[in-house]
Amino acid sequence: MGKRDYYDILGISKNASDDEIKKAYRKLAMEYHPDKNPGDKTAEENFKEASEAYEVLRDSQKRQRYDAYGHAGVKGQPNPFEGMEFDLTDALRTFMAGGFGGFGDIFGMGGGNRREQKMRGADLQLKMRLTLEEIATGVTKKIRIKKQVKCGDCSGSGAHAGSSSTTCPGCNGAGEVRQVSRSILGQFVNIATCSQCRGSGQIIEHLCTTCHGEGRAQASEELEIDIPAGVATGNYLTIQGQGNIGPKGGPPGDVIIIIEEQEHEYFERNGDDIIYELPISFVQAALGDKVNVPTLTGVAEIDISAGIQSGKILRMRSKGLPHLRQHHRGDQLLRVRVWTPTKLNKEERRILEKLRTSENIKPPKSIKSVFEKIKGVFN
Ligand SMILES: [Zn+2]
Ligand SMILES: [Zn+2]
Repeated sequence: MGKRDYYDILGISKNASDDEIKKAYRKLAMEYHPDKNPGDKTAEENFKEASEAYEVLRDSQKRQRYDAYGHAGVKGQPNPFEGMEFDLTDALRTFMAGGFGGFGDIFGMGGGNRREQKMRGADLQLKMRLTLEEIATGVTKKIRIKKQVKCGDCSGSGAHAGSSSTTCPGCNGAGEVRQVSRSILGQFVNIATCSQCRGSGQIIEHLCTTCHGEGRAQASEELEIDIPAGVATGNYLTIQGQGNIGPKGGPPGDVIIIIEEQEHEYFERNGDDIIYELPISFVQAALGDKVNVPTLTGVAEIDISAGIQSGKILRMRSKGLPHLRQHHRGDQLLRVRVWTPTKLNKEERRILEKLRTSENIKPPKSIKSVFEKIKGVFN
């Protein structure tokens, strides 16, 4: 299924202003926001779709590329929506980053209990290099990552054992401070996390001596990651909840794996097709033959028809890479190259000399006419 046009999704014209884009997105986001449509999958899809369109069109550079090249123009860019695991969290993050303030404000839910909303830990990004063979079959990789985990001595609270805590004077225990701000979309009540207590509403008397009140410690953990077949450089894989844990027991961020494909010694990739240069002797080219060809999944036999020319492309159906998250595969394309021998023994030379003047050995007459034309130019 092809992707829908971003302008169509937002219901705007190609020359919509930034303001129109923002307004259109805001309208759709409010209509389809998961909080307003709990459990409605269609609304969730619409919300993601609108967020993706907005993510591209609000950025003038991405928008230019999209206008010029379509979806392909914004593919492979460092853009979380290009990932294979486009999840709702990403869309919600866009929504929040869209300059509309917290979404509670948009839906008139501001002033809720922020104390429960602890700070989320950071995402961890890492690159993963894969061979074409691994991409062809999909692979499970074990990686070791350094990340922040819950401090074992205070269970993430940041408080020393037996230590009491008092109400934060900065926010009177609310964990948040209210600020009124103005933007082009109107006036917003901005609710910020209290900087004195970092949102907890409490000031701890004695901090945990291990983590100094942070609630976190550095650790190294092994992670097993299933990479699906057919991924490409620039694809993202989001592993939810495996990033750094938030301070003072806040929720963890994600691990984001960025795929990088290693160059292959023999194979060239073109989308999901694999290109392989097939060298054959001129005898094979003239007489035809059966030859063995390496593919990503093993050796395959192919027929060379008599009289094949150098540069001819042969297609081996479904011998390429699997399409990501689909059942069919690309093809392997063989680029035939007739190889010329560089050493000849006496016998070989004798046989070839005998053929030298044979009419069928000479390239077609068209070559002659080229010479005639060139002569005409210079005379
Ligand atoms: Zn406070
Ligand atoms: Zn601690």
